[in-house]
Amino acid sequence: MSAALKLGIVGFGKIARDEHVPAIARTEGLELIAVASRHGSAEGVANYLSLTDMLAACPELDAVVLCQPPAVRFEAAKEALNAGKHVFMEKPPGLSVSEVELLRGIAEKKGVTLFASWHSRYAPSVPPLKSWRAGKKLKRVAIEWREDVTLWHPGQDWIWQPGGFGVMDPGINALSILTDVIGEPIRMISSRLEFPSNKGTPIGADLAMETASGMPITAVFDWRETGPQTWRILFEAEHDRFDYVQGQASLPEGETAIAYEYRGLYARFLELVRSGRSDVDLAPLQLVADAFLAARIDIVQPFDQ
Ligand code: NAP
Repeated sequence: MSAALKLGIVGFGKIARDEHVPAIARTEGLELIAVASRHGSAEGVANYLSLTDMLAACPELDAVVLCQPPAVRFEAAKEALNAGKHVFMEKPPGLSVSEVELLRGIAEKKGVTLFASWHSRYAPSVPPLKSWRAGKKLKRVAIEWREDVTLWHPGQDWIWQPGGFGVMDPGINALSILTDVIGEPIRMISSRLEFPSNKGTPIGADLAMETASGMPITAVFDWRETGPQTWRILFEAEHDRFDYVQGQASLPEGETAIAYEYRGLYARFLELVRSGRSDVDLAPLQLVADAFLAARIDIVQPFDQ
């Protein structure tokens, strides 16, 4: 039996606390030994104020898990990779495609694993969707991701700052499922982004895309939905359809869809490290980047959060 992989988390906020810590605890072969965060701290492990301090004090660390906002991830990833550590990055992996490409190159040179994680790809409803999709000719795909930002991102100012992605932060989850399932390249055709007059990132997005074979894909992302929350992707084939609804799968008692996703992510990370490989799929990030490139920008009323 190989020794447990020793992990350190950077950025001890909501997702680190809610999902990473429990998923690590439930995965055989992983051990959380340290956390680096300016304000947050974890019980039962060594806590540091910065990644630099953590790396200096814990030479036995094998891997670093980056859970800060994407705009500050690059420098941390570079530092950890250059220190010879494997790196697990939260989604989105960075604030630009070019910087993540650069990180991929550093990981290759240093001979360590870089994992750009997409948690929604590990949802329990994705395998049934992939089985349904296999061998079918699709006619169209329509994504609808409507949620109340004040419920899901309370007090998070970074999502409204440049590089914080705004409504693209949840929207990229839908694009990560789309790009995983569709099986051919996708191009952005047009995009309309709504920016509140007091914010630096969009609150709404309306995207038109198509696959290499010409199948149309639309996406609507909206952060102003105070009624029922909707995370749905409708896949339409010739005589059949698959209505993918996030969180709909039945799970064992006490298990949540997101906890299931994070256990899948850590199993994948362990497999990548043990086999000496990286997993850096930039397709979802590229589509978001292209949506910003192609965008008609509408300034809408200020948003209070
Ligand atoms: P969060 O609660 O705001 O936590 C992020 C942590 O990063 C903060 O607690 C902060 O800890 C640290 N940090 C370092 N530099 C920062 C900066 N310049 N601005 C703000 N925080 C900074 O955010 P989160 O919800 O955990 O999200 C973190 C990442 O996980 C994002 O990429 C997000 O897309 C992804 N994610 C989130 C969820 C979710 O449900 N929340 C789900 C899946 C993925 P210190 O101040 O202590 O350093």
